[in-house]
Amino acid sequence: MSQVEVLAVASEVYPLAKTGGLADVTGALPKALAPLGVRMRTLVPGYPSVMARLQGARTARRLADFYGGPARLVAATAEGLELFVLDAPHLYDRPGGPYADATGVEFPDNGLRFAALGRAGATLGQGIVPRYRPDIVHAHDWQAGLTAAFLEYEAARRPGTVFTIHNLAFQGQYDRALLAQLGLPPRAFTPDGVEYYGDIGFLKAGVRLADRITTVSPTYAAEICTPERGMGMGGLLHGRADRLSGILNGIDVEVWNPAADGLIANAYETPEGRAANRTALQARFGLDADLGATLFAVVSRLSWQKGLDLLLDALPVLMAEGGQLAVLGSGEPALEQAFAAAAAANPGRVACVLAYDEALAHQVQAGCDAILVPSRFEPCGLTQLCALRYGAVPVVARVGGLADTVIDATPMSLAAHAATGVQFTPVEATMLEAAIRRTVALHRHPQTWRRLQQNGLSSDVSWRASAERYAKLYHGLIAERGG
Ligand code: ADP
Repeated sequence: MSQVEVLAVASEVYPLAKTGGLADVTGALPKALAPLGVRMRTLVPGYPSVMARLQGARTARRLADFYGGPARLVAATAEGLELFVLDAPHLYDRPGGPYADATGVEFPDNGLRFAALGRAGATLGQGIVPRYRPDIVHAHDWQAGLTAAFLEYEAARRPGTVFTIHNLAFQGQYDRALLAQLGLPPRAFTPDGVEYYGDIGFLKAGVRLADRITTVSPTYAAEICTPERGMGMGGLLHGRADRLSGILNGIDVEVWNPAADGLIANAYETPEGRAANRTALQARFGLDADLGATLFAVVSRLSWQKGLDLLLDALPVLMAEGGQLAVLGSGEPALEQAFAAAAAANPGRVACVLAYDEALAHQVQAGCDAILVPSRFEPCGLTQLCALRYGAVPVVARVGGLADTVIDATPMSLAAHAATGVQFTPVEATMLEAAIRRTVALHRHPQTWRRLQQNGLSSDVSWRASAERYAKLYHGLIAERGG
């Protein structure tokens, strides 16, 4: 098959700008797709963290008066990625993160900032840079949602469009008064366009107007077509279900490789090699050097989505079962305070590090017995994939990608040597308690536990299979459009 040229449009790309799993995906896909004949270049905003790391940067196109100031499209490479960068200092050259200032307050002009990203994506998609005309423009999440809209309403000849939902909870909804300022024509403001409950919906625009919609797991793809889990978009998604598919995320198995991980106490290939990491983890978190306890851990944003308030409710059971808990996370102040209080009340048994710390995340995955992921909803989830790769047993809510990536330990799945973890449903504290009890019981049978770990260690959590599905999707779309 011939080479396919794809322009990815995203507000985050690992390792240049990251707040969540979106960055991991956009950072990993180009490398995974390259052997499959897909060349992916990525358009990202020129945040300071991006501008500082560009190599071989050259101006590909100047954009006069671009949403309130001069801007340019810069072609460059960084960290093995081929990039276009929207260098618009009035929009992106400011301290803080991609969406909020250093104190966590969202930038008031995010509507304009990400309309600019969408417009730049659409402009590149139309081939305004010499010798660059992508076959497909692949936009990610609400921040890039207007890409398909600008192409739909402005381009005489447009490439195929793909829109990926990483998290339906963030939709980018803005006042209709912004329409003219964003540069969209009045005719775009209809239910078949960007209109969303009387406002402008960025994610809605992507969902409505892209040729193909994907999300990051098959179960989440089915869930979001329902009124209960569609977050206001269920009807629209249901109506476009024939265009929607779920493609699981993978993880970078070179970054996450227990056999060659310089960040952990002892690199390993078998469950036995984890013992030294377990001891090191207990020491690092100030937990008792207890060999028999089931050492549970959390590596997560601390937010309602992740269901960690349920874990606080279930903590007495975890303690009564003789378990230990190590929490690495940051986020909502109420949850941070509650975990700090739980640690203070249970010295040697519960400990937390309230920070975002990638090196420590590796150490937790390498040293804990089980990783808890009690999410209320989870589009795909990466933490449980890292756990499988590291031989930590994932204990997960049966929702979204967690349902698709962990095989529950039942007598049958254990006998078939397929089980990789523990699932529970519905997502309630009592069910989590039961899952914790079940996990401790499994842990008390060394042979069964070792088998679970081994099954996880040998499962394929790389991007290989999913990259093939994306490549197939691109080829299918090009063929449909007569390319
Ligand atoms: P989300 O994108 O909703 O936060 P995912 O599971 O898809 O959740 O991806 C989160 C990624 O960020 C995972 O790779 C996880 O290990 C990592 N992560 C989350 N919190 C922390 C933390 N406090 N320290 C280090 N890594 C973290």
